[in-house]
Amino acid sequence: MDDTSLNKKKLKSSPNIIGILAGKGGVGKSTITAELALALTKEGYKVGVLDADIYGPSIRHLLPEDQPPKTIGNKVAPARCKGISLISAAYFPKRKAPSGVRAPIANQLINQFIEEVEWGALDFLLIDFPPGTGDIQITLMQKLIFNGALIVTTPEELSLLDVRKSVEMCLQMGVPLLGVIENMSYFSLPESQERHYLFGKGGGQLLANEFEIPLLDEIPIDKGLNQPTIKKKSDLLFKKLGVSVINALKEEKGCKIKGVDRYHFSIEWLDGKKSFYRFSDVQGKCPCIECAIKNKNPALDVEGLEMIPVGSYGMQFVFSKGCSKGIYPFSTLRKLDR
Ligand SMILES: [Zn+2]
Repeated sequence: MDDTSLNKKKLKSSPNIIGILAGKGGVGKSTITAELALALTKEGYKVGVLDADIYGPSIRHLLPEDQPPKTIGNKVAPARCKGISLISAAYFPKRKAPSGVRAPIANQLINQFIEEVEWGALDFLLIDFPPGTGDIQITLMQKLIFNGALIVTTPEELSLLDVRKSVEMCLQMGVPLLGVIENMSYFSLPESQERHYLFGKGGGQLLANEFEIPLLDEIPIDKGLNQPTIKKKSDLLFKKLGVSVINALKEEKGCKIKGVDRYHFSIEWLDGKKSFYRFSDVQGKCPCIECAIKNKNPALDVEGLEMIPVGSYGMQFVFSKGCSKGIYPFSTLRKLDR
């Protein structure tokens, strides 16, 4: 069976794997990864963080380790910080790729992180992606089955141009989009409810509307995060974000998929909504990379021969004609029902 998902690496403990992506650096993606990891840990989940930002690893600075990583045989046990398991290029200075070294060494390191780290039992693995859309991002998406991606942006128009490319990469690689997080949205004084929008307003909402994904949160500028009042506000905010992420993941699971006849199938979603599809229409929207690149003529009168669930994440179909390589995330299937 030519099942793309079988080529992907399944981690032993099969946690929810969530990518945190941004179009460019400096939007606070790593801070959000770290705060989200802390918030989920406080809720009692076992959380791992993979800092895949090889050229600018900053997780170690945000979550200083209580225990460094250990090599056990040919495996690596991750570092520990406040109950979170961490792995980052920052722990392996000798193996750290200098900024001039391109894909091969960086990809090798990412492969080692995927193959050699013994995470133990995890509920969530948060992966802090490098900014942009390069080889490392593609390697990660090819090797791991992601339950979803969080897209971090700022309210500025400029960053939206870059972040749009990251969103499009997720769509092409079949990674479901959980939602947008707008960072540095506004500034407010510790004791005040008033919000000052210093960098414009509404960028996150614009992106969310364009791709029909939820805007999960607007995070204020974290000046003085160590002041107790702001810290308390911020903790609440990330607790809320954790809940939003868990809810976004739930939506993917537990829907009922049924073949109606040779040419049609239906999905009954958890919220009770029922969607009907023609196999021809779904085949014509094959999300695999080859189909995304080439302009193909849609096959007509396509029959559905098999429907294969891919994790909690989506479906793969064996069609009577045309390409059957695509994995359709449930978020995509929801959108295809028009
Ligand atoms: Zn295809």
